[in-house]
Amino acid sequence: MKIIRDIRTMQRRAGELKREGLSIGFVPTMGALHEGHLSLIRGSKKENDITCVSIFVNPIQFGPAEDFSNYPRPARADIALCKKEGVDFLFMPSPGGLYGSDFRSFVEVAGLSDVLCGASRKGHFRGVATVVAKLFNIAQPDRAYFGQKDCQQAVIITRMARELNFPVKIRVMPIVRSPEGLALSSRNAYLSAEQKVAALVISRALSEAETMVRQGKTDVRAILRAMRRMLAGSGGVAVEYLEAVDFATLVPVRKIRGRAAILIAARVGKTRLIDNIIVSK
Ligand code: AMP
Repeated sequence: MKIIRDIRTMQRRAGELKREGLSIGFVPTMGALHEGHLSLIRGSKKENDITCVSIFVNPIQFGPAEDFSNYPRPARADIALCKKEGVDFLFMPSPGGLYGSDFRSFVEVAGLSDVLCGASRKGHFRGVATVVAKLFNIAQPDRAYFGQKDCQQAVIITRMARELNFPVKIRVMPIVRSPEGLALSSRNAYLSAEQKVAALVISRALSEAETMVRQGKTDVRAILRAMRRMLAGSGGVAVEYLEAVDFATLVPVRKIRGRAAILIAARVGKTRLIDNIIVSK
């Protein structure tokens, strides 16, 4: 595995690989890698000649009161995991290298970026779309892998890639969960053992919704009511939003029809967790 920190070196190397006719699969991450990330890496390895992973805690997607400086950065363990998974290139740029001191070019996917998580995290998805656009231009992937865990992000990146004509296929991979059901996240490291147990109600409420849809219930108000009851009934979880939206447009739906996503953001203690399911009728 080759670790590359320099942007031009990465870009040049990606160009050479493409000229050799090799396909590049790309997995952008912020590190603190877990099985969720590894599932994306495995997906890429299956479909591509070369797999490139990036680890970059992207400052411009964090709000001023968010956890940028405390975000876990276990570089050594991450490098070992990537090696073990057979990653070909690990791109680890420095924040200075990626943005310099007077950065002014941003990518905004209008409308999709200010709802759901974007409502409370102003500028977050602008930061995400911008860094992903930059990374696509640097790593020049044929396919890029994202987790359904960050559903809104996946929808925004899919739209951005299509509308800005990036020659990349976006693959959205299923959510990897703990055996108990908690969606894996680097931020789970902030949770105490009790908080991890309390957080399980989030995935339980989503499974309940899935069951209701499977039983033929399509009225979103009834589904969300049942979920809210579960979430309120078990202590320690403060819901920030709970919504059912059309999967492509993120517009709230009243009935489950076509592909819909049911999404939750909630705080457990100080930690903000997100989770979702995709249902279809
Ligand atoms: P992050 O390092 O949190 O920015 O995540 C990097 C990528 O891994 C994103 O595309 C996430 O959606 C994906 N990811 C994070 N957690 C999971 C999970 N539990 N299952 C599947 N993919 C995940």
